[in-house]
Amino acid sequence: MDTYLSQLNEAQLAPTLQKDGPMIVIAGAGSGKTRVLTYRIAYLMSQGVDPFNILSLTFTNKAAREMKGRIAKIVGESEAKNLWMGTFHSVFAKILRIESDRLGYPSNFTIYDTQDSDRLISSIIKEMNLDKDIYKYKQVRSRISSYKNSLITVKAYFNNPELIEADTTARRPQIGNIYKNYVDRCFKAGAMDFDDLLLKTNELLTRFPDVLAKYQHRFKYILVDEYQDTNHSQYLIVRALSDRFQNICVVGDDAQSIYAFRGANINNILNFQRDYDDVKVFRLEQNYRSTKNIVNAANSIIDKNQTKLDKIVWTANEEGAKIKVHRSLTDGDEGRFVASTIFENKMHNQLPNSDFAVLYRTNAQSRAIEDALRKRDIPYRIYGGLSFYQRKEIKDVLSYLRLIINPADEEALKRVINFPGRGIGQTTVDKLIVAANGYDRSIFEVMKHIDKIEIKINSGTKGKLQDFVTMIESFQVMNKNANAFELAEHVTKASGLIREFNKDGTPEGITRLENIEELLNGIKDFVEGQKELADATGSLPEFLKDVALATDLDADKGDPNHVALMTIHLAKGLEFPYVFIVGMEEDLFPSAMSMNTRSELEEERRLFYVALTRAEKQAYLTYTLSRYRWGKLIDAEPSRFIEEIDEQYLDNITPIEERRFNPMLDASIFGDVEPNKIRFKKPTQRSPKRKTAEKRAETFKISTPKNLKKISSSSAATNLFDSKLTVGNFVNHQRFGKGEVLSIEGKGADIKAEINFENGGKKKLLLRFAKLEVI
Ligand code: ATP
Ligand code: MG
Repeated sequence: MDTYLSQLNEAQLAPTLQKDGPMIVIAGAGSGKTRVLTYRIAYLMSQGVDPFNILSLTFTNKAAREMKGRIAKIVGESEAKNLWMGTFHSVFAKILRIESDRLGYPSNFTIYDTQDSDRLISSIIKEMNLDKDIYKYKQVRSRISSYKNSLITVKAYFNNPELIEADTTARRPQIGNIYKNYVDRCFKAGAMDFDDLLLKTNELLTRFPDVLAKYQHRFKYILVDEYQDTNHSQYLIVRALSDRFQNICVVGDDAQSIYAFRGANINNILNFQRDYDDVKVFRLEQNYRSTKNIVNAANSIIDKNQTKLDKIVWTANEEGAKIKVHRSLTDGDEGRFVASTIFENKMHNQLPNSDFAVLYRTNAQSRAIEDALRKRDIPYRIYGGLSFYQRKEIKDVLSYLRLIINPADEEALKRVINFPGRGIGQTTVDKLIVAANGYDRSIFEVMKHIDKIEIKINSGTKGKLQDFVTMIESFQVMNKNANAFELAEHVTKASGLIREFNKDGTPEGITRLENIEELLNGIKDFVEGQKELADATGSLPEFLKDVALATDLDADKGDPNHVALMTIHLAKGLEFPYVFIVGMEEDLFPSAMSMNTRSELEEERRLFYVALTRAEKQAYLTYTLSRYRWGKLIDAEPSRFIEEIDEQYLDNITPIEERRFNPMLDASIFGDVEPNKIRFKKPTQRSPKRKTAEKRAETFKISTPKNLKKISSSSAATNLFDSKLTVGNFVNHQRFGKGEVLSIEGKGADIKAEINFENGGKKKLLLRFAKLEVI
C-alpha cells in the first residue's frame, strides 16, 4: 500500500478509496474529515484521474493552499498545480470572468467587498430620501444578501406578495425598491458583490446549458469540505455541476454548523442522501486531535442539543489535563491572565507562540487581550479584523487602480474623486449621480461629457472634473505598456496620495505610508512571480482580480511564530495545542441576540463545541465579573455553557480571595508585578481613592498608536482623563467608528463629550466609560 494511505485508519480508508459515485462522510470534530478529502484527491490522481478534472471546495483559501501543499508532497508539485481548489467565491469568480460576456459583464468586473456594498446601499437610501434610522444600511444589506442567497432576484421579489407583505409589515416597504436600485447600480458599475458570485454562477448554469455541460465535463470529481455550512445558492451550484457524473464527495459535521445566520442550511447535509441515488455514507469516530478530557467534555456539551445526528466521538489519546476555568474581575484582568499564562507555559515548556490561540465570540473582545499581550511582548496576530486590503489607505490606492481597469466602478470613483481633496464637493457628486441615473450611464461617462450635458455645475468645478478624468485616462494609457507595479507606484504619486499622507505627519499617517509601501511590495512580488508563468503578464487586471476576496487568513505574511487571535467562527477547521476561549459570559456567549429561540441557542452551543474542539492539549475557559460593552461597564454572569460541561472535566483555577483583597495583586493589574510571582498575602481593603484611580486606569483604556507613549500608570490616565481630550479632537470608538469631539461638559468622573460619529451620528458619552482612542 502507498505510504500515505498507511496514515489512515480503516474507517478513513473506506471513503478515501471509494472512487466513484455520491458519498458523504459525517463525522465529529478532529476525526480526519479534511485528511480524508486530501488523501482522496491524491488517491484519485494515482488512479489516473487528471487533476484538471478535480474540483475541491474549501472553507478558506488558506485551507485550500494547505491541502494543495500536502497533495503536492504526495503526487508532486507539477501535478498538484492543476487542481482547482479554493472557496466557492474564488473558484466561481474565476469561472464568471471566463464566461462574463454571457451575463453582459466585462471580464474584468470589479468585486465589491462588504464595505463597498454598504456604501452603495447607504447612498441609495439617501438618494431615495428614506429615513436612515428605519432603513439601516447594514440590515438592508443583510436582507438583500439573504434574498440573493435564496436566489430571489428582484423580479422574483416583486412577483412574491408574501415577501412584499413581510417587508411592509416590518415597516420597510421600500426594501424591494432599494434592492432593485442596488442591483441596477452594481450592473451599471460592472460590479458584483460577494453574493453575486454565487447568484450569477447559478444564473450562468441554468440559463446556458452549454456552459453547464462544459463545466460538468470539466469537473468530473467534486469534493466539498465543511458541507454543513453551505447555503442554498452553493448547494444548487454543487448539485448542478455534479449532476452529470455524480462523483460528489462531501464531508461535514452537523454539530459544527455555525453559519445559519448567514444563510447556511443544515438541511443540505441532512438531505444529501435524498438528493442523489445510491449514496454511500461513511462515519468516522476516532478523534486524533484532542485529549480524552477535551473530547469527552465536548461530547457532554453537544449532547444538550436536541437537533443533531447521533454520532460517536472517542479518542485513544491520553487523558490530558482538565479544562481550566478562570474567573477575573474585569476584561483587562482577563487579558492579563491570558498573557501571563501563555508567558509561563512558553517559559516552562519551551513552546512557540504559534501553539496558542485565543478565541472569542465578537471581534470587540480582542482589544483587552491585545493590550495584555503587547505588555508582555508576546507577538500575536489578529485574524479576520479589518483585512489589509480593507484599510483606508489601501482601499484608496486600490480604488484608483480599479478605476483604471473599470472606470464605471462607482464605489471606487466616489471614494477618490475628492481624495486627496480637489475641491469637488458632495453636492457635485450628488448631481453627478442624478445625471448618471437619468442618462443611464456611469458617473465617469457623465464626467467625460460634462460640457455637453445639461447639469447645474459651475464652470470652475467642471474644470476640476475634467482634470480628474484626464488624470485617470493618462493612467489608462500607461496601463497599456507598464506592469502592475510600475503603474501602481506612479499612481500613488501622481494622484497626490503619498503627498497627502506625508503631510499628515502623525504616527498614524506614517503607518498609512508604510502600508502603502507594503502594498507596492506585494504588487512587485506579484509581478515577479508572474514572470515565471508563460501566459501571465503581471498586468494590473490580473493583480486586482482576487484582491477583494483576499482575507487576513490568506495573507499569512511575516513571522509565523505568533499567538493567533480570532473569532470562533473563523477558527473552524483549525487546531492549536493551547486554546483560550475568553468571554464565557451570559449575553456574550451565548450571545444576547441568539437566545430567543431554541434553534438559535443550539447554534450558539454548536459554536462552543467548535471552539472547544480546536484544542489539542489544553483548553482554558475564562470569564469576568464585569466587562465594558458598548461603552458601559456591566456586570457579567458566567456562561451557562460552563455549567453544561460535566464537572469531572473541569478544574477551577480562580484564586478568588487573592484577587479580591491583595494589594500586591492590584499592582499586577497594572502589569507591574506578575500575579504568580506573588507569595505574600495580606487581606487589606483598598482605599477609595486608589480604587477610583484604578477604575480610571482600567476604564480609560485609551489605546495609543504604537509610537506614542502608553498610558500605564493611574496618574497618567487621570491626566488624560481630565484634560487631553479637547473640542476638535478626532477619536475612534469601537462601535461608532471615527468621530469629532463637538463639546465637553461636566467635571471629574462626570465628564461627558458630545461626539459626532461617522457610523452613529451625534452621541453624548461619559468619558469614564467610553473607550475612545484619540487619533
Ligand atoms: P474538523 O471537524 O475540526 O474540521 P476534521 O474531521 O477535518 O476536523 P482533521 O483536521 O482532518 O479532522 O484531523 C484532525 C487532526 O488529526 C489533524 O491534525 C490530522 O492530521 C490528525 N489525524 C487525522 N487522522 C489521523 C490518523 N489516521 N493518524 C494520525 N493523525 C490523524
Ligand atoms: Mg476539517
